Amino acid sequence: MLNINIVNFSYIFAAVLFIVGLKGLAHPRTAVNGNRLAALGMLIAVIFTLLSSKFEFQYIIIGVVVGGVIGAVAAMRVKMTAMPEMVGLFNGFGGGASVLVAGAALVAAMHHAISHEATTQMKIATVASGIIGSVTFFGSYVAFGKLAEFLAVKWKLYAWQKIIKYGFSLIVAAGAVWFGLSNGIDILSVGLMAGGVLIGGILLIKRDRFPGMNALKILMGIVAVGLGVMVILNPGNAMLFWVMVAAAGLLGVLLTFSIGGADMPVVIALLNSYSGLAAAATGFVINNNVLIIAGSLVGASGIILTNIMCKAMNRSLANVLFGVMGPTADTPDADEVYRTVKSASAEEVAMMLDNAQRVVVVPGYGMAVSQAQHAVRDLANLLNSKGVDVEFGVHPVAGRMPGHMNVLLAEANIPYDKLKEMDEINPMMETVDVAIVLGANDVVNPVARTDPNSPIAGMPIIDVDKAKTVVVIKRSLSPGFAGIPNPLFAAENTLMYFGDGKKAMIDLINAVKES
Ligand code: NAP
Repeated sequence: MLNINIVNFSYIFAAVLFIVGLKGLAHPRTAVNGNRLAALGMLIAVIFTLLSSKFEFQYIIIGVVVGGVIGAVAAMRVKMTAMPEMVGLFNGFGGGASVLVAGAALVAAMHHAISHEATTQMKIATVASGIIGSVTFFGSYVAFGKLAEFLAVKWKLYAWQKIIKYGFSLIVAAGAVWFGLSNGIDILSVGLMAGGVLIGGILLIKRDRFPGMNALKILMGIVAVGLGVMVILNPGNAMLFWVMVAAAGLLGVLLTFSIGGADMPVVIALLNSYSGLAAAATGFVINNNVLIIAGSLVGASGIILTNIMCKAMNRSLANVLFGVMGPTADTPDADEVYRTVKSASAEEVAMMLDNAQRVVVVPGYGMAVSQAQHAVRDLANLLNSKGVDVEFGVHPVAGRMPGHMNVLLAEANIPYDKLKEMDEINPMMETVDVAIVLGANDVVNPVARTDPNSPIAGMPIIDVDKAKTVVVIKRSLSPGFAGIPNPLFAAENTLMYFGDGKKAMIDLINAVKES
């Protein structure tokens, strides 16, 4: 066993690495190294924690191998467009782990009274960890299920979706009933069983909302906190803790269930913050400094990210959590808006690019869906070789997760100095000869500036409409995430170049080569 001072020193070193790593993540150029530094910090923290006390290493090794293999395979195989749901799922595991560690520590301290009685700090931290961790675990499962389209509204499911959906509900309900029965029938075990069955049942409902949902949310919030107070007053009763966890789980499900799938990335950032808070609380339960530090950093960065996303969409967190995004009665009719749409072929666009000196590409969700980032890099290189300056205007919420476009463009090795943030590119937009909008829609919709009744009113956009010519690449005139028409497509200086993003780019490259 290592001296506690050495262990604490290693924790400080790990914390410095986390902070420097986090700072590195702020810019695409330093992000990869930042990630490595933070991972190194975590490795140091894990190694010194394992050396700090006597452990039964066989279980730890089994856990590391099983978890590590699942994590590595999932991370390598996940598609970039499915990243939010994977992050959501992993957040949930963090919350679940916090609940289990806090619960185990409470049981050990109270039932076996091994080395110490539960202190007030430990009792409060255990309750915080149990409630926040359980909300995070079940909320994250719902977020994952909605993004992977097997929870709530979808009727037709693939076999794997059915297995997860029904399997998870069954495990939660049957597990709660088994655990409740094995502790004898009393009010607490009945509460636990009812909680588990309700969670399992709600997860099978094929609608986002049901009558009485808001009242149930408030009730479960009160019940979870009330049970938490009871756990603090009566920590010897472990069953009370698990009933509190079930109530918080029901709250987590209800809070996330009614949120639209497309708003989920914001909710996932919020749940990420919760998972950090749960970990920090668990750090207080088991007196582990590095867990407190790492949890606080995750908690703070998650809430900052949530705030950035809400600001970039010009929506409040309350509107994301409780509002519904979509067209309103004031939204103009698409046929009316699109009366003057003009379309162009690859050859026509190539001719325009031939005469251009300055081109800005604004990518959006469609670039991610069609995986057009490599093709757009080839186009940029080709134009560069003809003396055309090509830059990329990146909107903070383009795509479906923060940094979505930066990650894809970096994957295609587009030089970082060519990536311009919205505030940097907008003042230059009038000097741009051709703005190519690649699979973006809402983030270039001028109604955000002009129509105060629009659902995206006030959202900062990239002002492509101010460029001399705009070429929009998408498959149809379908709306984007906000579900509203975009008058840019019918503007006098806009040409629609219809097609799948990648295919359209490849055709355009060939046309530019031939022109
Ligand atoms: P968008 O407004 O959702 O529009 C994407 C467009 O891509 C669609 O109009 C679609 O048109 C086109 N598209 C889809 N597949 C395509 C393909 N294979 N090839 C070419 N085009 C394709 O996307 P955005 O402009 O990137 O805006 C993002 C939206 O998501 C914003 O409203 C933002 O608030 C919201 N949001 C973002 C985040 C985030 O963190 N980034 C989080 C939550 C919400 P067609 O079907 O006609 O092709």
